[in-house]
Amino acid sequence: MIPFSPPRIDDRTLEEVCATLKSGWITTGPRVRKFEEMLSDYCKVNNVLCVSSNSAGMELMLHWFGVGPGDEVIVPAYTYCATANVVVHCGATPVMVDVKEDFGIDVEAVRRAITPKTKVIMPVDIAGFPCDYDELNQLVREDAVRQMFTPTNEIQRQLGRILLLEDAAHSLGARYHGQPLGTQADLAVFSFHAVKNLTTAEGGAICLNLPHPFDNEALYKQLKIKSLHGQSKDALSKTQAGNWRYDVTEAGYKCNMTDVLAAIGIVELERYDSETLPRRKQIFDAYSNAFRNDSRFQIPTYETAEKQSSYHVYPLRINNITEQQRDEIMQRIFQLEVSVNVHFIPLPMLSFYRNAGYNIQNYPVTYDNFSREISLPVYYNLSDQQVQTVIEAVRQAVTL
Ligand SMILES: *Cc1c(COP(=O)(O)O)cnc(C)c1O
Repeated sequence: MIPFSPPRIDDRTLEEVCATLKSGWITTGPRVRKFEEMLSDYCKVNNVLCVSSNSAGMELMLHWFGVGPGDEVIVPAYTYCATANVVVHCGATPVMVDVKEDFGIDVEAVRRAITPKTKVIMPVDIAGFPCDYDELNQLVREDAVRQMFTPTNEIQRQLGRILLLEDAAHSLGARYHGQPLGTQADLAVFSFHAVKNLTTAEGGAICLNLPHPFDNEALYKQLKIKSLHGQSKDALSKTQAGNWRYDVTEAGYKCNMTDVLAAIGIVELERYDSETLPRRKQIFDAYSNAFRNDSRFQIPTYETAEKQSSYHVYPLRINNITEQQRDEIMQRIFQLEVSVNVHFIPLPMLSFYRNAGYNIQNYPVTYDNFSREISLPVYYNLSDQQVQTVIEAVRQAVTL
């Protein structure tokens, strides 16, 4: 059976993790700091904070911005549940909008959804393909949109407009106008979950790009404390002789990254541009070349003049089929010993959100994308021969 997306764990990973385990320091410490510095260089963002997951990072930033009951946060209907769940955790309302045929949030639909209660917009770079950041940045700065914004605390007053909080779970290494993702929105949060392009088993990182008068360096320090119970000293600095006394300055969260996991990330990032992304692109290109001239298939867009994907998910679509036919095709592909997946079941179709009153009929493009989508395996250790096996299985399974 060809698996869908196993992690790449080899001797280098094991050596770095073992070295950490033997070093005497296993939780947040020097390796997390090193990984943050590497991410900062890689993404060209001065301040990057590592956390325990993308979900925890997004929730931390919503809390920091003071999002709460009565507030609205605009999210795409087509995403993983984390994007909306963190809004619910804050007591605010996720306002879902439709996406475009390329899976990205529809900026005109965002515009129509803005109300005086809108505090945040959360674009999601589905499959690693960047959203329309020029248009989103312009939208939140438009006079009429700014005038509608109703700040309810000092941070919101300082920003004076809707916050752009990017769910960058898929997009480390993607580019927009040649610039690495992480630099386009006010805040961008990566995921290093086991199935993502770059993994630390579980983990995430927050890129801080807030405009003047915000001090991103000071915010980094504040968030480091906020992500560790509001404790003024972390465990490592407390180990210095006589340095035991600490204070708690706020009721903070507990979502720090550990050095053991940062060790995996350090190895992954060292070879990300030289090995991981080139191999993933080769696999994407092989799939596109195989399916491009076959009218049964719709291949995804992953490179345009302004955007370049991180090649996270290859979302193939089958033309002129129903959701049920898609499910049957997937069953036949599984029978041919190939694992495939669907990214994602739209939020309005999940019972929690459906029961809360969201209706998939209001998101026709989301439903159309979903009902015809099959994600194909993409990972570093997928061989050329396995890629051919996947292609043959898909061709055979689509018996239209
Ligand atoms: C994986 C994923 C998340 C959640 O990431 P975690 O690190 O597991 O919290 C959020 N959004 C999207 C789009 C994802 O695919």
